[in-house]
Amino acid sequence: MAKRAGQNRYQYFTPAMQQQAVARMSMVRELRYATERQQFELYYQPIVDLQTGKIIKAEALLRWHHPQNGLTSPAEFIPLAESTGLILRIGEWVFSTAARQLSHWQQQGHTELELSFNASPLQLKANGILPEDWLQQLEQLNVPAASMVIEITENLLIDNNRKAREVLDYLRQGSMKVAIDDFGTGYSSLAYLKDFDTNYLKIDQTFIRNLPDSKNDAALCEAMILMAHKLNMQVIAEGIETKEQKLFLTQAGCDFGQGWLYAKALPAAEFESLLNAQSRHTITSL
Ligand code: C2E
Ligand code: MG
Ligand code: MG
Ligand code: MG
Repeated sequence: MAKRAGQNRYQYFTPAMQQQAVARMSMVRELRYATERQQFELYYQPIVDLQTGKIIKAEALLRWHHPQNGLTSPAEFIPLAESTGLILRIGEWVFSTAARQLSHWQQQGHTELELSFNASPLQLKANGILPEDWLQQLEQLNVPAASMVIEITENLLIDNNRKAREVLDYLRQGSMKVAIDDFGTGYSSLAYLKDFDTNYLKIDQTFIRNLPDSKNDAALCEAMILMAHKLNMQVIAEGIETKEQKLFLTQAGCDFGQGWLYAKALPAAEFESLLNAQSRHTITSL
């Protein structure tokens, strides 16, 4: 804080800070109307079976087409959406859009496709999700709940929030799947893993980045994979960029992979082309 001794005792804001505050306020205003103005879009990143190279899942990732700044990454606006509560409305849009898209692809014949989406801890805690409404949406779309995966961060489990747990239990009982995202980056949540029924563990990309050279990262990845399998979970490695990383992970028994080696997150139409091309020939060359 720019609190100076003496006469300027009330000058907390430097001009730069004031500029920042103004920018933040206008972004909040823009974010508030982005849903109605259809400025959001979901991109889809393939998740492949590491053994076969086949795309069998995708993760829906939010994009904001900001009128001035262009395509804006969620890292830049999710925190703001969370601190203003707007994340609740955005989260509903993400869920229904993902569900409708999956319904479309399944109707095209990609019946085995699974789609995951990210949920903010806030949505789960603040009565932000009506799980019965979600399951009903899926039923109306003819999408088996077991083909939707909710990705949550392990911090949520650590908080061990009762409301969040109820919502997740309800979704799990309705057959929806649960993935722990960015595993290994929060506080240690091993104690919570043991009594929490989750389907997938996603190893954070910071553990993948320096494979296979980093002996520590290699050991940690192997240990996480072993642990997850013992707990009846399957493992998805995030951020695979090189063939060497992919080779190491495959040999370590990792189930699925996601990363730029395969594809970046793509607009729906482009992801769909990949899926359709794959129905004709599998991309085993990767
Ligand atoms: P995440 O859920 O862990 O998603 C993975 C991020 O890694 C994505 O960034 C993806 O584009 C990026 N990525 C994938 N493969 C690679 C790779 O090989 N190398 C590198 N360097 N990066 C890769 P993105 O799309 O910018 O999303 C960032 C984060 O924003 C997500 O991390 C997630 O926590 C959050 N997010 C995205 N969409 C939503 C949403 O709909 N709702 C909420 N609440 N959060 C979202
Ligand atoms: Mg995720
Ligand atoms: Mg992640
Ligand atoms: Mg992340």
